[in-house]
Amino acid sequence: MTGKFICMCVYTYLFNETIVSLKRYSDFYIEPTRVALVGSKRLYCIRYILKDMDFTLFIFVFVFGTVVGSFLNVVIFRYNTNFSLGGRSVCLYCGKTLKWYELVPLLSFLAQKGRCATCKSRLSLQYPLVEFATGALFLLSFIYAENYMASAFFYFLPYLFAIMSILLVIVVYDLRHKIIPDKLVFSFILLSLIRPALFLLPGENLPSALLSGPLFSAPFALLFFISRGKWIGLGDAKLVLGIGWFLGIVKAGLAVLFSFWIGALFSIILLFLRGRQFTMKSEIPFAPFLLLGFAIALFVPTDYLLKLLGFSG
Ligand SMILES: [Zn+2]
Repeated sequence: MTGKFICMCVYTYLFNETIVSLKRYSDFYIEPTRVALVGSKRLYCIRYILKDMDFTLFIFVFVFGTVVGSFLNVVIFRYNTNFSLGGRSVCLYCGKTLKWYELVPLLSFLAQKGRCATCKSRLSLQYPLVEFATGALFLLSFIYAENYMASAFFYFLPYLFAIMSILLVIVVYDLRHKIIPDKLVFSFILLSLIRPALFLLPGENLPSALLSGPLFSAPFALLFFISRGKWIGLGDAKLVLGIGWFLGIVKAGLAVLFSFWIGALFSIILLFLRGRQFTMKSEIPFAPFLLLGFAIALFVPTDYLLKLLGFSG
């Protein structure tokens, strides 16, 4: 048996017929192992056997992402405060040092129903959301690196993880404080500039790769100066500079396009939901939409996106 498998140990009351019909899946098949008889029903431990899919690895990468995500939460909460990044985590309300089992990403939050185990204060939804988002982005990065960067996998993947982490911190910080810290965004820009130096995309040359950053960033900077910062922040223009250099002209164009569309859709929905409370003057941070556009442009195959937009490339 060459296929990698995971033993889910799902104890089910399934009859043989159900399992046999499940077995006909093309990508994976399920091998039932009878464990015990409970009453008249057979108790099965189902083994999912996945052919040609690194499923075990996928789970490992996702879990690794959630662990990094819980560290990113600490960075987001402590950035620009007097707290250092080291030191044990404490409850922000009662100050109690958290035990190891209160620090398990996602699971602790679910097990404690979103409350501190000691003082029962409601914990920020940011914890599980950032953990999940990091896990998901790391998993997508892994699949992307495996498919498109196989030859450079072992240094491209950590690089992609770093890019995703810093983008997430920037986006959540922007959501919380409506500002993008210069130190963070400049680190992202520098990190992005490494990409054209190390890898050129198909059909790309160094001048066009270097042009991509300023090309997309300039309109954002222009919007900032025309509106005197009312429509868009200068931080967004800086963020787009990095996105442009990292993605290259075609993908960066798609990223900006999709972020505007998603942003517009979101504004319209907000306009309907909130009515008069929400005006065009209401400040919505744009960085989250840029991250969404970035992820779509990076992870969805470019030829598919171009076809979707009516370009037969
Ligand atoms: Zn507490």
